Amino acid sequence: MSSPQTMHKDIVIVGSGPAGLSFACALAKSGLQVVVIDQQSREQIANPAMDGRDIAMTHLSKTILQELNVWQRFHPEHIHPLREATVQDGDSPYALHFERSDDQEAPLGYLVANHRIRQALYDEVIHHPNIELLLEQKVATVSSCNTSALITLESGHRIEAPLAVAADSRFSGTRRMMGIGAKMKDYGRVMIVCNMKHQLDHRNTAQECFRYGRTCAILPLGELQSSIVITVPAARASELTDLSAEDFAHQVKDMLDHRLGAMELISERFAYPLVGAYSDRFIGKRFALIGDAAVGMHPVTAHGYNLGLRSADTLASQIIKAKQQGKDIGSAWVLHNYEARHQLLARPLYDSTNLIVKLYTDDQPVARLARKAALRIGNNISPFKKLITHRLTQIR
Ligand SMILES: Cc1cc2nc3c(=O)[nH]c(=O)nc-3n(C[C@H](O)[C@H](O)[C@H](O)COP(=O)(O)OP(=O)(O)OC[C@H]3O[C@@H](n4cnc5c(N)ncnc54)[C@H](O)[C@@H]3O)c2cc1C
Repeated sequence: MSSPQTMHKDIVIVGSGPAGLSFACALAKSGLQVVVIDQQSREQIANPAMDGRDIAMTHLSKTILQELNVWQRFHPEHIHPLREATVQDGDSPYALHFERSDDQEAPLGYLVANHRIRQALYDEVIHHPNIELLLEQKVATVSSCNTSALITLESGHRIEAPLAVAADSRFSGTRRMMGIGAKMKDYGRVMIVCNMKHQLDHRNTAQECFRYGRTCAILPLGELQSSIVITVPAARASELTDLSAEDFAHQVKDMLDHRLGAMELISERFAYPLVGAYSDRFIGKRFALIGDAAVGMHPVTAHGYNLGLRSADTLASQIIKAKQQGKDIGSAWVLHNYEARHQLLARPLYDSTNLIVKLYTDDQPVARLARKAALRIGNNISPFKKLITHRLTQIR
């Protein structure tokens, strides 16, 4: 006999961040009964505060979000097209360029603020009666047997389901409770992000400038406005965050070699210590990991949420297929299919991102030479550019 406090669902999701809510939206029309648990309050999830992150999204992410009825919820003014991207090394003006050769007018990708993505996902989720949100709840224990997973909350509530899915960040406590390890990678750096106004046009071009000791990126937002992303060794982050707004703007102007003219800080500065995570496995018995809980990327290549959305999309489609065929939605067959597909996508992205980070944070003369050579080779090998551009612009 189950205790009176045990709730029975088809799927229990831990974490209502962008990955958890995207996964819930993907299950909205499946008819499955889903519950999403988060430690945050309804106010924090319904009206998420700006967190400084502007998320660069691929065309495939746009397609998936359109299918989830989430993209349509973004106000057009909050979607910023990326026409071109450049990568520059040191103080050399030479840059690697990415632009669309197939359609000059179409963007390479899109930028949308993280809090607006979270808000649109929440606004969609609440329209579906088969998705329940259990908020201000922390997971105390997780276990599973051949037939179900059981989650106990610190409040004493218990939830039993044929499948539990963790989307509770790269530091996932649920992953640990299920005995799944992860390779964590502390990059020893902090990413400072903020919004700034500037004097000169950004031409809707994302610019990544790898300077010795630090990296500075411009992500174009509205007219004469950009998201500025500075990566510095952790010990030097406070040198920038503690500056007055005016002194900070002055420093950023210098870091960018005045390419945007005079700068003005128009938001808080948010500092993110950079830690990567790659889970030893993406699945357990009646259990799966999605989003950053499966793979937490370094943000330099802007893959994190794009990859998290793919994990949610892949797992949801395997589950829906199983349900349509009258099969067990939490079976090893469903989970192995998900893991195989997601590993194939995630492993090369994670390893190549770490290679880029290594190459661009090493200031030894050999690494500097290798970087300059890499940019020139990249510019001159058209299959390489086509591959990257295709990855950004493919639809399905
Ligand atoms: C500076 C920066 C820039 C980035 N830029 C890009 C970009 O351009 N493009 C891109 O694709 N990605 C980018 N990313 C990555 C992207 O932001 C993340 O991949 C994404 O937010 C991860 O979403 P998630 O839902 O997996 O995890 P999270 O956003 O970490 O959410 C986890 C959720 O789980 C909840 N939770 C945690 N523990 C518990 C618990 N015990 N019980 C209950 N609930 C719990 C938390 O409250 C939270 O709501 C960037 C990241 C950073 C830091």
